[in-house]
Amino acid sequence: MSTTPVETRPMGLVVAIDGPSGSGKSSTSRGVATRLGLRYLDTGAMFRGITWWMLREGVDVHDAAAVAARAEEPEVMSGTDPSGPGILVAGVDVSLAIRSDDVTSAVSPVSAVPAVRARLLDLQREVIADGGIVVEGRDIGSVVAPYAQVKIYLTADSSARAERRAAEEGGSDIDATRESLLSRDKIDSGRATAPLVMANGATHIDTTPYSLDEVIDQVVALVEAVGEHA
Ligand code: C5P
Repeated sequence: MSTTPVETRPMGLVVAIDGPSGSGKSSTSRGVATRLGLRYLDTGAMFRGITWWMLREGVDVHDAAAVAARAEEPEVMSGTDPSGPGILVAGVDVSLAIRSDDVTSAVSPVSAVPAVRARLLDLQREVIADGGIVVEGRDIGSVVAPYAQVKIYLTADSSARAERRAAEEGGSDIDATRESLLSRDKIDSGRATAPLVMANGATHIDTTPYSLDEVIDQVVALVEAVGEHA
């Protein structure tokens, strides 16, 4: 279980951006952080990092007990610069390796293991503790930082999500990408611990009809409306 109390509420601003895979969370979060001079935390990269390490160690990622037994081991250090956050796992820069197909197909089962979530929850709250940060993930507004002053839930229809993700990946097959996104959504939404949900008080933005800049504009306007970003 997490040892960090929920009451460790930062003094500064926290913007929580949640949503399913490919909804535009990363580009939006980085764009908002850059425009407002805030830090940025990609919690998906942390789950991918621990998954990369489990695969490297030969742990069976579908054996929850085996994953839980090793969850405390790897050191995970996340950068917070929105122009190039970077992530080190066990001292290795895995910024590129965590985007491989092997990691992408193993990350949802690893993320469903409560010991993994508890470990990363503590690390996430340490990074968030100073405030002044945009945090993206699946459970940020609901579990990690329920006190966030601004909570956004981004979605997009599955074809738009698959097209964007396939383009980001340099032209992968759109149908295969859509299948992979939907399969991760199913596991992420159905797990017992911290499933993907729209948090209480979140603003839902369906990004399908908008350009990235338009979505960033909408989120920046919501942040400015709470008047705490200075
Ligand atoms: O955001 P990204 O697609 O890189 O996240 C990879 C995976 O990490 C998700 O499919 C999900 O299984 C897991 N994740 C999570 N909770 C978060 C962020 C990511 O379970 N807060």
